[in-house]
Amino acid sequence: MKIYNTLSGRKEEFVPIEEGKVRMYVCGPTVYNLIHIGNARPMLVFDTVRRYMEYKGYDVNFVSNFTDVDDKIIKKALEEGVDASVISERYIAECKKDMEGMNVKPATTHPLATQEIDGMLEMIETLIEKGHAYRAADGTVYFRTRSFKEYGKLSHKNLDDLQGGNRSLLVSGEDQKEDSLDFVLWKPKKEGEPYWESPWCDGRPGWHIECSVMSKKYLGDEIDIHAGGEDLIFPHHENEIAQSEAANDKTFARYWMHNAFLNIDNRKMSKSAGNFFTVRDISEKYDLQVLRFFMLSAHYRSPLNFSADLMQAAQNGYDRIVTAVENLNFLIKSAKEEEESAAEKQAEEDAKAFIAKFEDAMEDDFNTADAISAIFELVKFVNTNTDGEHSKAYLQALKNEIITLTDICGLIVEKKEELLPEDIEALIAQRQEARKAKNFARADEIRNELLQKGIVLEDTREGVKWKKA
Ligand code: AMP
Ligand code: ZN
Repeated sequence: MKIYNTLSGRKEEFVPIEEGKVRMYVCGPTVYNLIHIGNARPMLVFDTVRRYMEYKGYDVNFVSNFTDVDDKIIKKALEEGVDASVISERYIAECKKDMEGMNVKPATTHPLATQEIDGMLEMIETLIEKGHAYRAADGTVYFRTRSFKEYGKLSHKNLDDLQGGNRSLLVSGEDQKEDSLDFVLWKPKKEGEPYWESPWCDGRPGWHIECSVMSKKYLGDEIDIHAGGEDLIFPHHENEIAQSEAANDKTFARYWMHNAFLNIDNRKMSKSAGNFFTVRDISEKYDLQVLRFFMLSAHYRSPLNFSADLMQAAQNGYDRIVTAVENLNFLIKSAKEEEESAAEKQAEEDAKAFIAKFEDAMEDDFNTADAISAIFELVKFVNTNTDGEHSKAYLQALKNEIITLTDICGLIVEKKEELLPEDIEALIAQRQEARKAKNFARADEIRNELLQKGIVLEDTREGVKWKKA
């Protein structure tokens, strides 16, 4: 498996630190609003990377944080006259809904910055002790950038060039820094802001230290993959490396993966330009599976343009797969329960070539664009090599091949069978019977089965009621 590593600037063979295991950290969103479709790109891309690695047999420890203390969250909280936690909790819940809609798997752990302050105090303390950080007169703690000799290795920037660019940017209040390159680890509280006590001042952490600490706590000092959008390379990820490596004396992450940006109608997405879409906006017009298909139809390191036409093309492409699976299901229902013929066995073997093609594309730095082409080729093969004369085993085998590949992409191509109200009532009656017989395991099983099909049961005083989730 080859991964393009931003650190080396080339594709490298993936070798995990621990055989069969992957430790992966993806910088998550700042939760002050509904997530926009740009934020959805890293979520979808790295969820697909994770799914492919799991398909390959890796045990993936996937950590993705929520940045729940930040200027934008505080600003919104002040506007609404509520606590910052009200804002962050609201948008974490909304973000999780969008993730579910896009079929993004929940992370192994979703840490929250505000719950990890102790770890941050500890790492900052270590950095001060080692001479990599210092406290200024007002209690701000800065990282001493020049003390980390490899600073700039990820973004391939040279410290002196950076310094030249920075000099003119020195703003008031920054003159207490020893060097214009130094960045904040801890900053003093302002009136009305959330804060924590620390040895330096009551205040809150800088953004970069949060990820260094959460990655260390949940994945260890050394991890395999650290990922995020390309805007994070500098300064966020460069600073994370400096903090973590200076504190832990270990290589922080072996592979650095960055997705390119999503633009809208060839322009940068921005609220003020009026070309800004949340995932929720899109969900009102399209099935979010179409958005997922659209995102994966380009390689993650290529800029991606969003437009109504391209979404229509994605809709058509996605529908083509859904229709093929629908047709297969239709054929399977009435197919003969007989041995596969020699010709069928051969065709089933032939179809495996598309799986190989799919894997080759994914092994080459997760080229999902080519991987989706391989799915289309398989769909075309299935469409031309199936009819009512085939055995159930053969049809099922072809269907399984399509589902295996679409599952890796996180694409749901098989619509859940709609339950009729009488089926639901029958299941509810069975559940009541099970409860009467004190078979609670069976009762729960039925409840879950219905939930999977989008039906929620409510035990009310008048009896059990159901509604669509
Ligand atoms: P933020 O909430 O701004 O920290 O962003 C969360 C994630 O979304 C980061 O990995 C960003 O790099 C990524 N991101 C933000 N905007 C875009 C965009 N237009 N295209 C692709 N990724 C983006
Ligand atoms: Zn981060």
